[in-house]
Amino acid sequence: MSVKVSKFGGSSLADAARMRRAAAIVQADADRRYVVPSAPGKRSGEDRKVTDLLYTCHDLAKQGLSFAEPWGLVAERFEGIVAELGLDVPIDGWLEAARAGIDTTAASGPDFAASRGEAINGKVLAALLGWECVDAAEVVWFGQRGRLDEARTYRELGERLRDLGRAVVPGFYGRMSGPGGVGEVAGPAGVKTFSRGGSDVTGAIVARSVGAAVYENWTDVPGLLITDPRIVPGAYPIEVVTYKELRELSYSGARVLHEDAVFPVRSAGIPVRILSTLEPGEPGTMIVAAADPMAEPVYEITGIAGRSGFTAFTIEKAMMNSEIGLGMRALSVLDRHAISFEHMPSGVDTMTLVIDDAYFDGASAVIAREGLVGELKAAVDADLVDFDPSISLIATVGRGMKRKPGMAAKLFAALADSGVNIRMIDQGSSELNITVGVDDADYAGAVRAIYAAFVGAVDAVSG
Ligand code: ASP
Repeated sequence: MSVKVSKFGGSSLADAARMRRAAAIVQADADRRYVVPSAPGKRSGEDRKVTDLLYTCHDLAKQGLSFAEPWGLVAERFEGIVAELGLDVPIDGWLEAARAGIDTTAASGPDFAASRGEAINGKVLAALLGWECVDAAEVVWFGQRGRLDEARTYRELGERLRDLGRAVVPGFYGRMSGPGGVGEVAGPAGVKTFSRGGSDVTGAIVARSVGAAVYENWTDVPGLLITDPRIVPGAYPIEVVTYKELRELSYSGARVLHEDAVFPVRSAGIPVRILSTLEPGEPGTMIVAAADPMAEPVYEITGIAGRSGFTAFTIEKAMMNSEIGLGMRALSVLDRHAISFEHMPSGVDTMTLVIDDAYFDGASAVIAREGLVGELKAAVDADLVDFDPSISLIATVGRGMKRKPGMAAKLFAALADSGVNIRMIDQGSSELNITVGVDDADYAGAVRAIYAAFVGAVDAVSG
């Protein structure tokens, strides 16, 4: 039997009907033996996620204020789900224990409060399936500096789950180990969560602990799409993506799995399948360590991702190519301000540093653009240092691009034909991606042009 671990996102469990749909998916395949739920998410655009309401409860409790209003919404949500599902469970007791714990932990942090959405939803889903719910605070361990204690977690969680044969494990949280990684920090204050979206991480850990054949990640989108559907409506899902491609795509802006969810399964060679509860029969997207070399990818590219909000600093100096240590001196300026750069394309006498605007604008700003220009100029005795704000970076990613002549030409021709001026080009040495920098104003047009050139579904491109 090949064990499947199925994680369901918050929007797939947002109400009783969706819970039923998720349960039917689990019951349709006897290999689906371990289920990891998120807390109920939004039922519609204006709705509030249970987790967001719980953070609000904690914020109010911390200030010594009443959290009755957001708590009432949380309680109503769960009571409604349980009633509609017709479950005979002690929901009042579960809610009261959570409410009391939020009070107790008001001074010690939001984690207990935030975790209750998953904790209660796990019990509800387990009752619906007629399975046992394993409290994640008994089997998922955080050690030193709040990092997951992988060894202890895989061991204890694996043993417990194998014994049970089938179980629900709520996502998003676990418990702090005691000093030296043994024992535990008891009570509500010992409960700790991953960062937001962390049920993905729990799902990956469960898959790893039981040596699953596949980690299914159920959402309400038909898989990972080739590009952002807000830019290309009707963009197709990607059938197969490798972990390396996924890393490039997520780094460049695609929203997929929680970053920390990849490691536990990737290192164990467990594939991830992203599936939609709305179309459970569709194949979704498979994330694998290495794609089958015999299987030609459907398209020459795997995906297109991008982000806006960068500034490109160009340093010019005659004879730059022969000056030893110039690059190091320029980068030491960034080092001094703890600024990281995204790309560094260079020419004979020029070098460009592409840097996230967050370093220059808003609350996390560390220096003004003009200040950085002055420091770079002084550090390398440049002839000229200039900057271009409002740059968008677009990464066209694909294992199929490797050693294939004409890919760059096709990309640049597509951009030229649609009137997009390319401000910067960077091809990673892995040949897995070609990144172009364009003006923010050209961003959407450039993504559409690349999609149309490589995927060819021109009729799906509009707006
Ligand atoms: N419920 C948590 C959140 O909203 C975790 C998750 O859904 O994965 O961030």
